[in-house]
Amino acid sequence: MFTKLGEYNKMKCSICGSESLEVIKSKGKKSRELLLKCEECGNIFREIVEGNIPVDCRVVVSEFENSSKTFIKLYPDETLHNGDLLDVNGRLAEITSIENKRGGRVSTSQVDEIETIWASYKDIPARVGISVDYGGRILSEKVEVNPDLEFTIGDVVKMGNIIFRINSLKTQERKLRKGFARANVTKRVYGRPIDEKRFKYDLTSKVLHHE
Ligand SMILES: [Zn+2]
Repeated sequence: MFTKLGEYNKMKCSICGSESLEVIKSKGKKSRELLLKCEECGNIFREIVEGNIPVDCRVVVSEFENSSKTFIKLYPDETLHNGDLLDVNGRLAEITSIENKRGGRVSTSQVDEIETIWASYKDIPARVGISVDYGGRILSEKVEVNPDLEFTIGDVVKMGNIIFRINSLKTQERKLRKGFARANVTKRVYGRPIDEKRFKYDLTSKVLHHE
Protein backbone atom coordinates (compact mmCIF):
# COMPACT_ATOMS: atom_id res chain seq x y z
CA MET A 1 0.00 0.00 0.00
CA PHE A 2 2.36 2.73 1.17
CA THR A 3 5.31 2.24 -1.08
CA LYS A 4 8.02 4.88 -0.91
CA LEU A 5 6.86 5.57 2.63
CA GLY A 6 10.42 6.53 3.47
CA GLU A 7 9.99 9.71 1.47
CA TYR A 8 7.51 10.99 4.01
CA ASN A 9 8.89 9.64 7.23
CA LYS A 10 12.62 9.26 6.63
CA MET A 11 12.28 5.61 7.52
CA LYS A 12 14.91 3.24 6.29
CA CYS A 13 15.29 -0.50 6.13
CA SER A 14 17.16 -1.64 9.24
CA ILE A 15 19.42 -3.88 7.11
CA CYS A 16 20.08 -2.27 3.71
CA GLY A 17 18.99 1.32 4.32
CA SER A 18 16.50 1.42 1.42
CA GLU A 19 13.56 3.83 1.72
CA SER A 20 11.26 1.69 -0.44
CA LEU A 21 9.14 0.19 2.29
CA GLU A 22 5.77 -1.47 2.15
CA VAL A 23 3.40 -1.31 5.11
CA ILE A 24 2.12 -4.77 5.92
CA LYS A 25 0.27 -3.77 9.09
CA SER A 26 -0.52 -0.50 10.80
CA LYS A 27 -1.93 -0.07 14.30
CA GLY A 28 -2.85 2.98 16.37
CA LYS A 29 -3.94 6.49 15.53
CA LYS A 30 -1.74 9.24 17.01
CA SER A 31 1.37 7.14 16.94
CA ARG A 32 1.39 4.12 14.71
CA GLU A 33 3.07 0.80 15.08
CA LEU A 34 3.98 -0.36 11.60
CA LEU A 35 5.05 -3.71 10.32
CA LEU A 36 7.20 -2.93 7.32
CA LYS A 37 8.71 -4.90 4.51
CA CYS A 38 11.71 -3.64 2.60
CA GLU A 39 11.13 -3.80 -1.15
CA GLU A 40 14.86 -4.06 -1.82
CA CYS A 41 16.02 -6.89 0.44
CA GLY A 42 12.77 -8.31 1.81
CA ASN A 43 13.64 -7.56 5.44
CA ILE A 44 10.54 -7.38 7.66
CA PHE A 45 10.74 -5.13 10.72
CA ARG A 46 8.67 -3.02 13.13
CA GLU A 47 8.76 0.72 13.54
CA ILE A 48 6.80 3.22 15.64
CA VAL A 49 6.02 6.51 13.91
CA GLU A 50 4.77 9.61 15.70
CA GLY A 51 2.00 11.71 14.25
CA ASN A 52 0.81 11.75 10.73
CA ILE A 53 1.49 9.32 8.02
CA PRO A 54 -0.12 9.77 4.63
CA VAL A 55 -3.15 7.67 3.81
CA ASP A 56 -4.63 6.58 0.52
CA CYS A 57 -7.49 8.83 -0.48
CA ARG A 58 -9.92 7.91 -3.26
CA VAL A 59 -10.15 10.36 -6.14
CA VAL A 60 -12.53 10.26 -9.09
CA VAL A 61 -10.95 12.48 -11.70
CA SER A 62 -12.73 13.47 -14.85
CA GLU A 63 -11.39 14.15 -18.28
CA PHE A 64 -14.05 15.24 -20.79
CA GLU A 65 -16.91 12.71 -20.62
CA ASN A 66 -14.76 10.06 -18.93
CA SER A 67 -13.81 9.66 -15.32
CA SER A 68 -11.34 7.36 -13.65
CA LYS A 69 -10.79 6.25 -10.10
CA THR A 70 -7.41 6.41 -8.46
CA PHE A 71 -5.78 6.86 -5.05
CA ILE A 72 -3.47 9.60 -3.88
CA LYS A 73 -1.52 9.99 -0.65
CA LEU A 74 -2.64 12.72 1.72
CA TYR A 75 -2.07 13.48 5.39
CA PRO A 76 -5.11 12.59 7.53
CA ASP A 77 -5.13 15.97 9.33
CA GLU A 78 -4.91 18.01 6.12
CA THR A 79 -8.01 20.05 5.21
CA LEU A 80 -9.18 20.16 1.61
CA HIS A 81 -11.54 22.62 -0.07
CA ASN A 82 -13.37 22.77 -3.37
CA GLY A 83 -11.06 24.50 -5.81
CA ASP A 84 -7.85 23.17 -4.22
CA LEU A 85 -5.29 21.76 -6.62
CA LEU A 86 -4.00 18.22 -6.28
CA ASP A 87 -1.21 16.27 -7.85
CA VAL A 88 -2.97 13.22 -9.28
CA ASN A 89 -0.32 10.83 -10.54
CA GLY A 90 1.81 13.68 -11.80
CA ARG A 91 -1.04 15.67 -13.36
CA LEU A 92 -2.64 18.81 -11.99
CA ALA A 93 -6.29 18.37 -10.98
CA GLU A 94 -8.74 20.67 -9.25
CA ILE A 95 -11.20 19.51 -6.56
CA THR A 96 -14.77 20.02 -7.76
CA SER A 97 -16.60 18.23 -4.93
CA ILE A 98 -15.90 16.32 -1.73
CA GLU A 99 -17.94 13.40 -0.40
CA ASN A 100 -17.51 12.68 3.28
CA LYS A 101 -17.84 9.36 5.08
CA ARG A 102 -21.43 10.15 6.05
CA GLY A 103 -22.31 10.29 2.35
CA GLY A 104 -22.73 14.07 2.20
CA ARG A 105 -21.35 16.46 -0.37
CA VAL A 106 -19.32 19.14 1.38
CA SER A 107 -17.13 21.97 0.19
CA THR A 108 -14.44 21.44 2.81
CA SER A 109 -13.31 18.46 4.88
CA GLN A 110 -10.40 17.00 6.77
CA VAL A 111 -8.79 14.14 4.84
CA ASP A 112 -9.60 11.44 7.42
CA GLU A 113 -13.30 12.21 7.02
CA ILE A 114 -13.29 12.03 3.24
CA GLU A 115 -14.79 9.11 1.35
CA THR A 116 -14.17 10.37 -2.20
CA ILE A 117 -12.67 13.46 -3.79
CA TRP A 118 -14.12 14.53 -7.14
CA ALA A 119 -11.71 16.41 -9.34
CA SER A 120 -11.08 17.42 -12.90
CA TYR A 121 -7.77 17.65 -14.68
CA LYS A 122 -6.52 21.21 -15.15
CA ASP A 123 -4.01 20.44 -17.87
CA ILE A 124 -6.66 19.92 -20.53
CA PRO A 125 -9.30 22.27 -21.89
CA ALA A 126 -12.84 21.91 -20.57
CA ARG A 127 -15.32 20.48 -23.07
CA VAL A 128 -18.70 22.20 -22.86
CA GLY A 129 -21.91 21.79 -24.86
CA ILE A 130 -23.60 24.87 -26.32
CA SER A 131 -27.30 24.84 -27.24
CA VAL A 132 -28.80 27.85 -28.95
CA ASP A 133 -32.59 27.79 -29.17
CA TYR A 134 -34.13 29.23 -32.34
CA GLY A 135 -37.70 28.97 -31.06
CA GLY A 136 -37.71 25.18 -30.92
CA ARG A 137 -34.97 24.43 -33.44
CA ILE A 138 -31.81 23.85 -31.42
CA LEU A 139 -28.33 24.44 -32.70
CA SER A 140 -25.92 22.24 -30.70
CA GLU A 141 -22.14 22.47 -30.65
CA LYS A 142 -19.29 21.38 -28.43
CA VAL A 143 -16.50 23.77 -27.55
CA GLU A 144 -13.16 23.29 -25.84
CA VAL A 145 -12.18 26.23 -23.65
CA ASN A 146 -9.85 27.18 -20.84
CA PRO A 147 -11.17 25.45 -17.66
CA ASP A 148 -11.04 28.82 -15.86
CA LEU A 149 -13.35 30.60 -18.31
CA GLU A 150 -16.45 31.87 -16.52
CA PHE A 151 -19.81 31.59 -18.24
CA THR A 152 -22.18 34.19 -16.79
CA ILE A 153 -25.93 34.29 -17.39
CA GLY A 154 -26.50 37.29 -19.65
CA ASP A 155 -23.14 37.10 -21.43
CA VAL A 156 -23.33 37.91 -25.13
CA VAL A 157 -21.26 35.41 -27.05
CA LYS A 158 -20.20 35.03 -30.65
CA MET A 159 -19.91 31.56 -32.20
CA GLY A 160 -19.33 31.36 -35.91
CA ASN A 161 -21.79 33.73 -37.56
CA ILE A 162 -24.28 33.71 -34.69
CA ILE A 163 -24.49 35.87 -31.61
CA PHE A 164 -26.41 34.62 -28.61
CA ARG A 165 -27.10 35.52 -25.01
CA ILE A 166 -26.61 32.90 -22.29
CA ASN A 167 -29.88 32.32 -20.43
CA SER A 168 -29.08 29.24 -18.37
CA LEU A 169 -26.28 26.84 -17.49
CA LYS A 170 -26.16 23.21 -16.53
CA THR A 171 -23.29 22.35 -14.20
CA GLN A 172 -22.24 18.97 -12.82
CA GLU A 173 -24.60 19.52 -9.91
CA ARG A 174 -27.43 21.83 -10.86
CA LYS A 175 -29.16 24.01 -13.40
CA LEU A 176 -28.49 27.74 -13.04
CA ARG A 177 -30.75 30.59 -14.13
CA LYS A 178 -28.59 33.31 -12.64
CA GLY A 179 -24.99 33.75 -11.64
CA PHE A 180 -22.01 32.12 -13.29
CA ALA A 181 -20.05 28.87 -13.48
CA ARG A 182 -16.53 28.03 -14.47
CA ALA A 183 -16.08 25.98 -17.61
CA ASN A 184 -14.54 23.03 -15.74
CA VAL A 185 -17.84 22.35 -13.93
CA THR A 186 -20.17 23.40 -16.75
CA LYS A 187 -21.81 20.67 -18.81
CA ARG A 188 -23.93 22.82 -21.10
CA VAL A 189 -24.59 26.47 -21.89
CA TYR A 190 -28.07 27.42 -23.11
CA GLY A 191 -28.64 30.55 -25.13
CA ARG A 192 -30.95 32.40 -27.46
CA PRO A 193 -29.90 34.26 -30.60
CA ILE A 194 -30.00 38.05 -30.37
CA ASP A 195 -29.60 40.97 -32.73
CA GLU A 196 -26.35 42.42 -31.44
CA LYS A 197 -23.02 43.27 -32.96
CA ARG A 198 -21.07 43.51 -29.75
CA PHE A 199 -20.13 40.43 -27.79
CA LYS A 200 -18.11 39.62 -24.69
CA TYR A 201 -16.11 36.74 -26.15
CA ASP A 202 -15.83 34.68 -29.29
CA LEU A 203 -16.04 30.89 -29.19
CA THR A 204 -15.68 30.41 -32.95
CA SER A 205 -12.16 28.98 -32.82
CA LYS A 206 -13.14 26.76 -29.86
CA VAL A 207 -15.84 24.79 -31.68
CA LEU A 208 -15.02 21.12 -32.10
CA HIS A 209 -15.43 20.10 -35.67
CA HIS A 210 -17.53 17.09 -36.44
CA GLU A 211 -15.98 14.27 -38.42
ZN1 LIG B 1 16.39 -3.73 2.98
